[in-house]
Amino acid sequence: MGKALIIGAGGVASVVVAKCCQNAEVFEEICIASRTKEKCDALKAKWDGGKTKITTARVDADKVDELVALIQKEKPDIVINVALPYQDLTIMDACLATKVDYVDTANYEPPDTAKFEYKWQWAYREKFKEAGITALLGSGFDPGVTGVFSAYAMKHEFDEINYIDILDANAGDHGYPFATNFNPEINIREVSAKGSYIEDGRWVETEPMEIKRVYNFPEIGEKDMYLLHHEELESLALNIKGIKRIRFFMTFSQSYLTHLKCLENVGMTSIEPIDFEGKQIVPLQFLKAVLPDPASLGPRTKGKTNIGCIFRGKKDGRDKTYYLYNVCDHEECYKEVGSQAISYTTGVPAMIGAMMVMTGKWKKPGVYNIEEFDPDPFMDALNRFGLPWQESHHPDLVE
Ligand code: NDP
Repeated sequence: MGKALIIGAGGVASVVVAKCCQNAEVFEEICIASRTKEKCDALKAKWDGGKTKITTARVDADKVDELVALIQKEKPDIVINVALPYQDLTIMDACLATKVDYVDTANYEPPDTAKFEYKWQWAYREKFKEAGITALLGSGFDPGVTGVFSAYAMKHEFDEINYIDILDANAGDHGYPFATNFNPEINIREVSAKGSYIEDGRWVETEPMEIKRVYNFPEIGEKDMYLLHHEELESLALNIKGIKRIRFFMTFSQSYLTHLKCLENVGMTSIEPIDFEGKQIVPLQFLKAVLPDPASLGPRTKGKTNIGCIFRGKKDGRDKTYYLYNVCDHEECYKEVGSQAISYTTGVPAMIGAMMVMTGKWKKPGVYNIEEFDPDPFMDALNRFGLPWQESHHPDLVE
């Protein structure tokens, strides 16, 4: 079928590469490009030898001209952005300049303010439409599969959905006192920010970790979970008919929270640069350098993740509840692709999103969130590529 340019060579990228190679009918060729070319070469060495042809390149994705030159040289059909959210806009600019489709897994975040929202990327809608190219935003798990689940529930189960609770549980144990499962800088910025949810069309803000609930997750058991701000709330509240309230909860262990509090109290999670021995450093970036590399957690992590959405709404005038979720086993993921479940649950949907656009199923000029497309082919692909979903019509609810 065609060629994808994968930007980034971290935890998520390594799963995207593995999954593209499992799907050589669609991904005949991939080019892995990142800041550190050695990481791209290591991925090529790991997956070379199958039907998918792999090349590598070095690129600074903060620089539009470098990206444009790379895209012109490689001539991909699509760019899969699995670098960091800070690179979203430069990569979108390069796609516009070269008229190539675009997929990412996280919305743009300015490096100097820990605030993520879609307004910067939604501002590209007209330009992408005029260029005749598709941007698919947020094709990871959350955001990503949670949006596909919502579109599927809307299409097949409800006339209107009034309440959505997105629950993200990780019962994985890596044996370290403290580590983050994906990029520590992005992860800590996310969890140390104020919480928020949408009710009656308005954002309601909470203190960080202010709202706690306990939920009994299928295949995982009872876990403490905390309400966080999360990017898909913003788009789902607009795109799903009838929403009165939408919330996002993630599980954290007491030990994780105690470490985080301590790091916060001593100033290590700050993104304000400080002067250190004549050099400006950002404490959170320094912390990232001393924490375990998320990619190194794979071989050590045991246990499962369970991520899904509980819907409440109406069908044929009657109240109805519905729960869609996926359970993913860290050790199984590691056996299959050499990564733990957090990278796996993000990398698989990133490949599927790119496949949807490349095969023409989701090819539509403009900038779209994932729930704006027909969920059915994506739901089928989840079952086929390692993230089978399960459903319940009588789930426990979150009060
Ligand atoms: P990693 O930190 O492991 O990997 C990021 C990669 O991007 C690294 O290879 C890094 O290069 C590269 N990179 C960073 N800056 C640049 C740049 N300027 N130019 C070129 N390459 C660059 O992160 P993850 O793989 O864990 O996460 C990737 C993305 O996935 C993030 O945007 C994250 O927010 C998102 N994500 C989404 C989830 C979802 O469910 N939707 C869940 C988890 C993650 P180097 O190796 O040189 O540092």
